[in-house]
Amino acid sequence: MSSYESACYYFDRAARLLDLSDNMRKLLLTPERELKVQVATDLDNGQIATLIGFRVQHNSARGPMKGGLRYHHEVDGEEVLSLATLMTWKTAIVNIPYGGAKGGIALDARSLSHGELERITRKFVDEIQDIIGPDKDIPAPDMGTNAEVMAWIMKQYEKYHGFNPACVTGKPLELHGAEGREEATGRGVVTLTVEFLKRLHTDVRDSTFAIQGFGNVGSHAANRLFELGAKIVAVTDALGGVGKEDGLDIPELMNYCSENGSVKGFPGTHPINNEELLTAEVDVLMPAALGNVLTAEIANHVRAKYIVEAANNPTEPRADEIFNERGIIVLPDVLANAGGVTVSYFEWVQNRQHFKWELGRVRKELDRILLDSIEKVWQIATSKKVSLRVACYLLGIGRVGRATVLGGV
Ligand code: NAD
Repeated sequence: MSSYESACYYFDRAARLLDLSDNMRKLLLTPERELKVQVATDLDNGQIATLIGFRVQHNSARGPMKGGLRYHHEVDGEEVLSLATLMTWKTAIVNIPYGGAKGGIALDARSLSHGELERITRKFVDEIQDIIGPDKDIPAPDMGTNAEVMAWIMKQYEKYHGFNPACVTGKPLELHGAEGREEATGRGVVTLTVEFLKRLHTDVRDSTFAIQGFGNVGSHAANRLFELGAKIVAVTDALGGVGKEDGLDIPELMNYCSENGSVKGFPGTHPINNEELLTAEVDVLMPAALGNVLTAEIANHVRAKYIVEAANNPTEPRADEIFNERGIIVLPDVLANAGGVTVSYFEWVQNRQHFKWELGRVRKELDRILLDSIEKVWQIATSKKVSLRVACYLLGIGRVGRATVLGGV
């Protein structure tokens, strides 16, 4: 099943429970705009590279559209569409005044120089600058992009529209970024994980974790878990993985990873691959890298008690059913990783008010929004006797649907 079919599958399951009409289902699923552009640029060796860039604007019923920009060789239009759809429900679940969008360029960042990446990013902005903006669609970091890429976007957008830092979020602190944005997704994942475990009568300090991905989300989540006293026994990234039964020293692993470009070979550990990580005997499995890694085949061998989806779309629908049947409880992506877009919202608010918040305020407001959201989702899951994923979709689709009806078509 493709990532977009998965997105539709989860939507349909909730839409049936909400008794949505076919017309309303079609309206809510159909993206407002899908843009596919040529991104041609000179490479350092004098050759020309012609890449394809995507921006999908799924739904603006609740406000300007918001969503990350992904640089990865597997990016394609269908994946971007499914991620844009996910953003619509995610912003609604945490009740921030946005719709959903997503973008991406199919490229292998490791084979490109810093200068090449900058030229590609600026060229992409040339192609999409008229459809993005603080009141239209606000990009942010995702896999393969970071604060520096967001700075290039801001500066290139400025050439067309003048100073307007709220046109993109996840910027560097020195260039109108927000305190706490970089850590926000990983930190938010952990705030929700602690609450999720507490509601299941489990203490995070007595829990073991396996984390796939050690980039922005995975490393910040791991670090926060380590601070709270949890034991992270396995981590993988694109180049390899490491395991240690009595727990990895995460601050040391972060230093090692920034010096060596991977967790692979971290002293005092044994090597581990993705399959071993996904089927490790731990309390919590946390995918924080790619989509569709939890397939039906793997799902039967997963030994974790709980799954926290830090990545977007990590679980195929059939695997989700298997987890339900096997009693493995999943904290779904649309809620679990919503801390990133929430602090992006704070950054946008600060940019528009030209007023900077302190880190303490960012963290406090983030906790408030996430804990309020999990409480609402939990209430729906309990009262309707559905999974947390279905409860999230019921909440998100309900809010977008009501905004659509109230606003008129
Ligand atoms: P990133 O580029 O910073 O890190 C990605 C990590 O995944 C890296 O450690 C990379 O080595 C690893 N990885 C790539 N391929 C892998 C493979 N085959 N096996 C194991 N590891 C692999 O990306 P990120 O921003 O941390 O995003 C990770 C996930 O979180 C994505 O699904 C993204 O959509 C989602 N997400 C990110 C944010 C955000 O604010 N950055 C917000 C919400 C959701």
